[in-house]
Amino acid sequence: MIKKSRAKKRATETAESNTIAHDPNTQTIHTATPNALTAKLSPETEFATTSSKALFRRIGFHAPIAGGLHTALLKSAALGCNAVQIFSRNPRGWTARPLDGEEVLRFQSVRVETNISPVVIHANYLINLASADSTIREKSRAAFREEIERGLALGADYLVVHPGSAKGACASDGVRACAETLKAACEGLDLHNFRILIENTAGQGACIGHCFEHLRDIIGDCPELNLGVCFDTAHAFTAGYDLRDEEGFHATLESLESNVGLLNVCVVHFNDSKAEYNSRVDRHQNIGDGHIGSEALARVARSAELAHAAFLLETPQEVPGDDVSNLNALRSFLCA
Ligand SMILES: [Zn+2]
Ligand SMILES: [Zn+2]
Repeated sequence: MIKKSRAKKRATETAESNTIAHDPNTQTIHTATPNALTAKLSPETEFATTSSKALFRRIGFHAPIAGGLHTALLKSAALGCNAVQIFSRNPRGWTARPLDGEEVLRFQSVRVETNISPVVIHANYLINLASADSTIREKSRAAFREEIERGLALGADYLVVHPGSAKGACASDGVRACAETLKAACEGLDLHNFRILIENTAGQGACIGHCFEHLRDIIGDCPELNLGVCFDTAHAFTAGYDLRDEEGFHATLESLESNVGLLNVCVVHFNDSKAEYNSRVDRHQNIGDGHIGSEALARVARSAELAHAAFLLETPQEVPGDDVSNLNALRSFLCA
């Protein structure tokens, strides 16, 4: 059993009391179940009753797909979310069962019913677009193309991918390889409004993407793909962007703006970090329980510069209620 920090407990209580105080008829998210979908708890009413300030914000979490892809939408709606991230397949295997037509139709009809947007897909973890090994790169190209095709079939908005590891080569070769593999994976596909987002990384091992300059160069090498960015708070922090104070956060925003453009940051992965500042270790933590902390994360959540992006939690899902308390922490930041 994980012990909740006082900060998180306070955040949870604040969010609950906000919800109840504004509309006693609205169910709290603790009692909502997927069956409550058609009840009063639509994402809009939840936000409207919570705070007008949070009305237009998109928030959600990485929802499990056990029981079918559409269940991620149901779980998200039941927790009062209006955005979601999913895997569209097993994230740790090379082969994926093809999507069947019925599954796609069901996902799309539940999406209309739940009004969840954006739908973000996180790519398979085995994919390494930057690999110095041509066999792995070719496997990654094929698997990433499949991810795009699945995303297009589902009508998803974004596909998030890590730029990869340049093991055996230098970072600039990795950046070039990543851009080339991306272009090859997209060849002949009409992406239309579907956007690929490159995620910043913690820089573990030989992983590239820990500095925004890498993302800038990948995006710059593929102008025809209209790539965007997914900004992960835990990754940025352990890669050396100090989000703990106002000065560090503003320097981070300035670097994002000058390298990739803040408006191209379409998704924020809103995570606290179990790993220390500048440690180059990728370990996510519950909001308020990690080394970034509630005060700094509240600053990120409230920043006008990132308000257009969907804020999605990738916090640990170890005990029932973890998602609820982390979502409530995020809501409390937005409502304060
Ligand atoms: Zn990721
Ligand atoms: Zn992430």
